This record gives sequence, structure tokens and C-alpha cells, in this order.
Amino acid sequence: MLTNNLGYPRIGSQRELKKACELYWAGKTTLKNLYQVGRNLRQENWQLQKEAGIDLIPSNDFSFYDQVLDMSLTVSAIPERYHEVILNKNNAELDLYFAMARGFQKDGLDITAMEMTKWFDTNYHYIVPEFHKDQPFKLFSTKVIDEFYEARQLGILTKPVLIGPVSYLLLGKEKEAGFDRIDLIRNLLPVYIELLKRLDKLDVQWVQFDEPFLSLDLTEKEKKAFLYAYGEIRKEFPALKTIVTTYFEGLRDNVVLATSLPVCALHLDLVRAPEQLEAVLNHVPDKMTLSLGVVDGRNIWINDFAKSLALIEKALASLPHNRIMIAPSSSLLHSPCDLVLETNDKVLLPEIKSWMAFARQKLHEVSILKQLATLGKGSSQAFVENQRKVETRRTSSLIHNPAVKAQVAAIADADAQRAHPFAVRKKKQQAALKLPLYPTTTIGSFPQTAEVRNWRAQWKKGELTQAEYDALLRTATQNAIHWQNEIGLDVLVHGEFERNDMVEYFGEQLAGYVFSKNGWVQSYGSRCVKPPIIFGDVSRPQPMTVAWAQYAQSLSDKPVKGMLTGPVTILQWSFVRDDQPRSETAFQIALAIRQEVVDLEKAGIQVIQIDEPAIREGLPLRKVDWQSYLQWAVKAFRISASGVRDETQIHTHMCYSEFNDIIQNIADMDADVITIECSRSQMELLDAFADFNYPNEIGPGVYDIHSPRVPSREEMVSLMRKASAVVPAAQLWVNPDCGLKTRHWDETRKALVEMVEAARELRAGV
Ligand code: GLN
Ligand code: ZN
Repeated sequence: MLTNNLGYPRIGSQRELKKACELYWAGKTTLKNLYQVGRNLRQENWQLQKEAGIDLIPSNDFSFYDQVLDMSLTVSAIPERYHEVILNKNNAELDLYFAMARGFQKDGLDITAMEMTKWFDTNYHYIVPEFHKDQPFKLFSTKVIDEFYEARQLGILTKPVLIGPVSYLLLGKEKEAGFDRIDLIRNLLPVYIELLKRLDKLDVQWVQFDEPFLSLDLTEKEKKAFLYAYGEIRKEFPALKTIVTTYFEGLRDNVVLATSLPVCALHLDLVRAPEQLEAVLNHVPDKMTLSLGVVDGRNIWINDFAKSLALIEKALASLPHNRIMIAPSSSLLHSPCDLVLETNDKVLLPEIKSWMAFARQKLHEVSILKQLATLGKGSSQAFVENQRKVETRRTSSLIHNPAVKAQVAAIADADAQRAHPFAVRKKKQQAALKLPLYPTTTIGSFPQTAEVRNWRAQWKKGELTQAEYDALLRTATQNAIHWQNEIGLDVLVHGEFERNDMVEYFGEQLAGYVFSKNGWVQSYGSRCVKPPIIFGDVSRPQPMTVAWAQYAQSLSDKPVKGMLTGPVTILQWSFVRDDQPRSETAFQIALAIRQEVVDLEKAGIQVIQIDEPAIREGLPLRKVDWQSYLQWAVKAFRISASGVRDETQIHTHMCYSEFNDIIQNIADMDADVITIECSRSQMELLDAFADFNYPNEIGPGVYDIHSPRVPSREEMVSLMRKASAVVPAAQLWVNPDCGLKTRHWDETRKALVEMVEAARELRAGV
């Protein structure tokens, strides 16, 4: 029985890689230094896995930016616009690589970056490969071979990790019409064969092919591509030990396909889909090994050894020991590095910490599970200790709050329902708010300047007292309100200067949350996030935003929006409990937000925005599961929004979303106003609302907040005219695409002045 690891976090426990890359991009360090940081990290990670008792240690899981981009460079899927970068001999391969990831503005060139998108249902983003009809491929970067060799020099025989050929193609995008990217498999496969030949010469034993698409919905053609690709590889390398990995979902209808691939081992995510084990055992051919992903690669809780051993024993009933591997469910890329670094008992209570495991601790769990499975758990100290922790967690009064559980159990249908339908509410809101046609607003945040962030840093270090910090924030808020009044916006915002992050800010005030100090997880490139951790029943000990909203409202006669993050987004961007369904946690958060909404109304706030940018990214990977998710997600939002009178206007905001296939669910959220990102798509995203005859009000973003560019009045008027051609003007709002926290004040001022003028022009033209 072997222990198998699929991938290890490469950012470094002190975010060494982030820091080194950013220095290199800023021209403050040499390529040589950057390479050295990479080498150190790889060596450290290999060593640490070896010490933890991992038999199959991955290589090529390291990346300076993204593993999909690595693959693109390996097979030379380099879009033509970067060829100038290659031609300049002063540029290293890594410069080309970063140009593809981040764009290139140098030497008179101005080349855009490749597109980025989310890696399945994680918060990791990968660089989308670009494909053309009949595209040729060839072996370009030899990173896979180099890193295998590097480890071998250190005395560690690694298992190179490749994105499998089928998943690699499916992760990409056709850049022209008239072909299906999966048809490129015949052009692509020879590069994999060539690569494997080179590895073979270096005496590679195991090679891992990541094929997460094997557990998603597949077309017939895609299924054939799997059989073709792995058939060819087997033909060329009859003795190579190949392992195909799947994760984030169960194989379901693809069990037969997966088990009929001519590969030596198949990895299963038994955390996400334990039920697939039975079906796979029924089909697994003689000689095929199963890698059992029993330790959660996506969360931070300790493993329940009893549960994992039950799965392992189930496999052992059908297979001999040497055809079983023990593994984390997925790459550990999605876990923070090392719990040992969490040393502050006040931030992370020791009892709660004892229930947690980060990447490094998960390796040990894998190793111990192998021992328990081979030697028998008996009264093993490790097993007893683990079960004691699991039991204290299950029954801890830190986690369980009977009052919260009772409230969730008591949620009635009426709690997820406004008092009257939108048509009735709209009239009452009109009478109360007296807004003009094409009302103008912004999405919430104003620039988080270095100055504002500096105040927060000083306050956290104790260099500013609470009173001093609050006073500074009050001035910033006051300036923002006065300025919005002056330029004539219709619904104002307080600016969110007091918030570090739209989820962390609420997590810090809700019971049931803890925070790590070093629990960073790579989000994209050098960007890391530190998700807050929901460990227990969530409740709201006291109002969270009311004082700021009330203060801001006291400075203006115009309505100031109360600004909240919605339950689904709070859930989605946190590490969540694994001891109850996500929906249960979502409803707990929904009740807390509902109390806040009601308190805001009581404090005289007439317009309240509940942001839900993450509702779409929570969609399950299999389409059949969408509606059951959307049902509870929409319900959670409605619970949070439905405690107020008809006169109180509820807004929601979503960005980066395609709405076509979920427009009915968006309508079911029944927000009085929804603001969406629209400008980069030239209002095309609005079509879904138009085709649906979406009944409530909509603010399609009129300018892109991701760019410092100041939009002209004419282009905003023209975008809104386009909008009003498909949605009646009486339903439309005028606002930017998203919050303005990443922008500077000078461009923000100019852009919003133009936006207000654009709205005036639109009104005059009606
Ligand atoms: N209210 C938030 C802001 O303006 C919304 C951010 C978001 O949609 N991601 O910053
Ligand atoms: Zn947004």
C-alpha cells in the first residue's frame, strides 16, 4: 500500500514565491534570484513530503504562476501575439511566460494577457489556453523534465504531474469558429508521447495525469478522446506506471469509461463523492490500482480516521493491499501550508486549532492512515487521539449554539417572502424615495487609498487608538458623502472605508468564525487569499454596520445605502464546516444578515444592498445538481432580505456573471434592484434579463472599474441607450460595474461626474 500526494502548495509558508515574483516584476530582483527561490521551495516541499512518509511525491506541481499555463508552454500553445517577445533574445522563457500571464508593456510592445478563469469550483484561477483550428503543438518548455531531474539529483524519485491531454484541451477555448478543440487531441498527443519518452529515459516510474473532466458531464466525442489518448500512451509505453486523477466530483455515469482506460491507477475524490467507491469497485479491472482520496484537500479540518478507514476497508474487501493507495482528495494547492505557524492562542483558540489540519498536517494524516490500514487500528495511540478530537469537536459548546439551531429549524416559508409582490413595493418605494428616472448610484466602496490602509495597519498595531481610527474613518466617510451630494448622485454610499474585505469584515463580527494568521491559499499568480474559517454555529452578537450607516445617513438628505455581504457569498469565500450541509450554514448566516437588515431599517436606512457576487460560482460542477443548490442559495438570500417593510428598497449586486442559464433563479431572488457588471460585454449580459422580461429594476454597469481609464459621457449614454432598447427605461439605474476600492480618487471623481451627467442627458432625452 502506497501513500500518494497529488500536489503541494507552492507559494511557500511565508509566501516566499509571491514576494519573489512581485520583486522580479517590479525590476527589483534578478531572474537568477527568482529561480533560486523556486528551487528552494521545491526542495523544501519534496523533503517535507519525504519526511512525512509520502511514497509518491509529485513534481511539476510547482509553478511560477499557474499549472495550466505551464502546460501551454510545455506544448507550445503560445498565441501569436507573444511571438515578438520570443524573438527578442533578451527575454528569457520565464519572461515570455509572465507576458502570457500578465500582459507585456515594454520595448514598444503592448500585448494583452491571456484570459483567466476559475479552476472548477475552487477560488483558484487558471490561465485559459487559446486554440485555433488545426493548431500544431510541439515540445517547447522542458520544465516537467527539468524538475524531475532536479529532484532526482537530490535523491528523490518524483512522480511528474501533467494536466492530462483531454482535460488540457477542455480547459481551453476556441479562438475562432468552425472547429471543436477536442479534435486537436491528435495533434496534441505526440507532444505528450515525446515528453514521456524523455522522462522514460530518466527512469521515471509513475506519471500522474490530472483529468478532472472525467468526473464532469462529457459528450460522446470527449469520451472517445479519453480512450484514444490513454490507448496511445499505453501502446507506446507498456511498462510506464500511469495514474489518472479525478477530483472535485464523483465519476457517476463515467465509471465504466474511467475503469476501462488502460492505466495503472485511478484516483478518486472520496471526500466529495464517497458513494462512487462502491460503483468503481464493481468495475475495477484486474491489476488496476485505486488511489483513495480520503483526506480533504479543500478544507482545514482534521480527518475522521474512523470514516476514512471504513472506506479503505471497503476497498480492501475487494482489492489486495498493493492495489490501494492512500491520498488527499485533491491537490493540496487549495489548503494553507502549515498549522504549526499559527502560534497566537488568542487569535486561534487551542481547542479549535486541535480540530484543524493544513497541508503539512494532511500529509501526516495520509501516512498514519496507511499505517492504521496495514497494521490494524487496534488501540493505536494515533487512532484513539484522533477519535477523541473528533468527539470533542462533535459535542463542543464552542461549536453548538442550540438557540441558532432552533431559529434555523423555525424558519417558515413566510420568512423568505416580502410582504407584497414587487409591483406593489415599487409604488411604495417610489413614494418614499422620490427618485428620478435613471437614478444614479455606485456599488459601495470608494478608493481604499494607501492612507486608509495605513490607518488600519496602525490601528491593528496599536499605534492608533480605536477613537483615533474611528475619527479618521469618519472624516473619510464625511468627505465621500459631501462629494457625492455635490456631484448629484441620487443614492449615496458611505464608501466602506472601515472594511478590509467584504467577507472578513463580517466574519470578524459574527460568532462562529475564527481567523488564521498565515492561512494563505493561492488565488491566482502571486495573489493569495486568507479565507476566514467558519467553525461553529453562526450568529450576530450585535449590529455590525448600523453605526456607520446611520452616521453616513445623518450627513445627507439623499438616501444612503446600507451595505452588506449576502449569505451565499460569505459562505462561498470562507472555509466552511464539514459537519453539516452547506445549506444549513447558509441559513444561519442568512438569519444573522436578516437581523442586520432589520436593524438598518429601524435606524432609518431606506435602501439596503446585499451583495451576492459569488452566487454563480457556487454552482455545482454537474448540471443535474444545479437546481437543488440554487433552491437553497436563493432561499438564503430571500431570508436575509425579507424582514423589511415594502417601502425599504433591497438592492443586490453581482459581478463576473453569465445570467442566461440561471435567470429564473435571479428573478426568484426578488431584489428590488440588481446591479450587474455589463460594460465590458457592451451590455450583452443584459440580454438575458431582456429576453426573460425581468420584472424588477436593473443597474447594468456603464463603466469598467478594473481599468484606470475614465469613460466618456457619450459612451455611457450610448451604452444606456442600448440598454433602454431592451429594458424599459423605468426599470433602469445608472452605476459602475462594481465597487471602486481598487481605483484612485482622481479617476473616480472624473468618471462619476461624467456618469451623473450622462444620466441627466438620458433623462432630458426622454
Ligand atoms: N460592495 C462591494 C464593493 O463595492 C462589492 C464588491 C464586489 O462585488 N465584489 O466593494
Ligand atoms: Zn462587483
